[in-house]
Amino acid sequence: MSEELSKYKELADLIFPDIVETVEDLEKRYPERNLKEGACVTRFAPSPTGFLHTGALFTSTVDKKLANQTDGIFFLRIEDTDKKREIEGSINDLTSQMKKFNISPDEGVISKDEEIGNYGPYIQSKREKIYKICAKHLIEKGLAYPCFCTPEMLQKTHDYQEEHKIVPGYYSVYAKCRNIPIEEYIARIKNGEKYILRFRSNGSHLKKVSFKDGIKGKIEIAQNDQDIVIIKSDGLPTYHFAHVCDDHFMRTTHVIRGEEWVSSVPIHLELFHAMGFKAPVYIHLPTVMILDGNSKRKLSKRKDKEAAVSYFLKAGYPVDSVNEYLLNIINSDFENWKRANKTVSNDKFEMKLKKINTSGALFDIVKLNDVSKEVISRMNSDEVLKSVIEWAEEYNREIFEVINRNIEYSKKIFALERDGAKKIRKDIYKWEDIIPTFFYFFDDYFNNEIQNGYDFKIENKITKEVIFNVLENYQKIYDANNSKEEWFDNMKNLAQELEFCVNMKEYKENPDGFIGSIADFSDIIRIAITNRHNTPDIYSIMQILGKENVINRINLAKNAIK
Ligand code: GLU
Repeated sequence: MSEELSKYKELADLIFPDIVETVEDLEKRYPERNLKEGACVTRFAPSPTGFLHTGALFTSTVDKKLANQTDGIFFLRIEDTDKKREIEGSINDLTSQMKKFNISPDEGVISKDEEIGNYGPYIQSKREKIYKICAKHLIEKGLAYPCFCTPEMLQKTHDYQEEHKIVPGYYSVYAKCRNIPIEEYIARIKNGEKYILRFRSNGSHLKKVSFKDGIKGKIEIAQNDQDIVIIKSDGLPTYHFAHVCDDHFMRTTHVIRGEEWVSSVPIHLELFHAMGFKAPVYIHLPTVMILDGNSKRKLSKRKDKEAAVSYFLKAGYPVDSVNEYLLNIINSDFENWKRANKTVSNDKFEMKLKKINTSGALFDIVKLNDVSKEVISRMNSDEVLKSVIEWAEEYNREIFEVINRNIEYSKKIFALERDGAKKIRKDIYKWEDIIPTFFYFFDDYFNNEIQNGYDFKIENKITKEVIFNVLENYQKIYDANNSKEEWFDNMKNLAQELEFCVNMKEYKENPDGFIGSIADFSDIIRIAITNRHNTPDIYSIMQILGKENVINRINLAKNAIK
């Protein structure tokens, strides 16, 4: 060993006297994974700083999909090295929300106190020793050094650089502790001076480094020349250093993360190289954007309710709707695939990284609602009932209780224009909507609603008297035992008798010759029964409500209009 190297060794032992394990030991403890050729190992690596962000759900969906479709592994690592930002309870929130969205990891953190897999611990604060082994390795090679600069000194350098328009940072002549003789490092540490550890960069910002991003293709940027911090004063690593140590020893093959990290790749590649590790494939995902007026901006935790996935759960979007919508954003050809494969599981759709839009992923709630209507339209009444109950149990006790008291009745309601229907009604996209869309079936809701009056459109021709007259006469001919055809014929006959036009074409040619059209006529009945203009077929509604209730509702409407 050269004299210099033995001095570095002395420095490394002084800094980490208790660390006897080596990087080679770690290589043995965390061997290459025994997976089939082409299998991708991906990870989602959130900081425990709050709820699951919609952008993070997007990232982890890509993670999970890539691992699944290559028979690889998707794991969850918690990046909690910034203890100040940590929020109590967020690990469990994250894991339970991931579970709800069916993106639970195959390996890693399962809950705050539980993890699975042989590459752990999967919570960074529990990996301190691993980072120390790696940092010690760099010091021994002369590739890391202690820095004694105080925050005040660093601020002074920063101000100077700013004032003189010099690239900011700790590099070259501004890296004050970089060229201290090794003996001095040793003496100052022995003297009790406080320090952190920095990487000794060999890069130059005048030279370029290039890498192939899994989505963006070849990217060329300036090399790193900053002596970045690797171990902070609290003994924990920085993101950059932890990323390199963890993704190497957890044997991640594909690092999928937000595009805000592209500019850090030169640092990471240099660190991988310094450690003697093979760098993973980088895949930088576009930021999830939202349309604000006419311009796009980043989905914001503060401004947008849809930035937190809990919003979708609370409002009762089926998880499948959100997942399916995310697949739409990830690969725009998913929509066509789904159209052709309506009944096939989305797991069968093969995601193509190259097809991910590089210019920002637009989160459009209107489009999500459309997707969700489709997803709900594919469910039968049993599935709707089950999903509504599951959702309501957690988020809406009122709906939960009403439905539970009326299970069979509710099932009939959900079966309307759904089970066996040629054309399925697509009127709801989230379970919260079942109150305005279906709850008129329940007398308490209906009676409460009509306290504020009925929604009859009273025009010149269709006066209160006309409405009353229609209802009174309809009540006389209403027979709950009629078949649909009989019912419709009776309606038509009555409409004609009361001078409504039963032929829309004829009516349009001569509107003044009639009191109204057959559509106006049925609208009067519809409003009396449901207080809505737009409902499933009124005959079926009356069948579900039952004779007594229909008569009662017509009476209520008559009284209200008198
Ligand atoms: N903890 C980092 C973040 O939340 C992870 C980035 C990465 O995936 O490497 O931004």
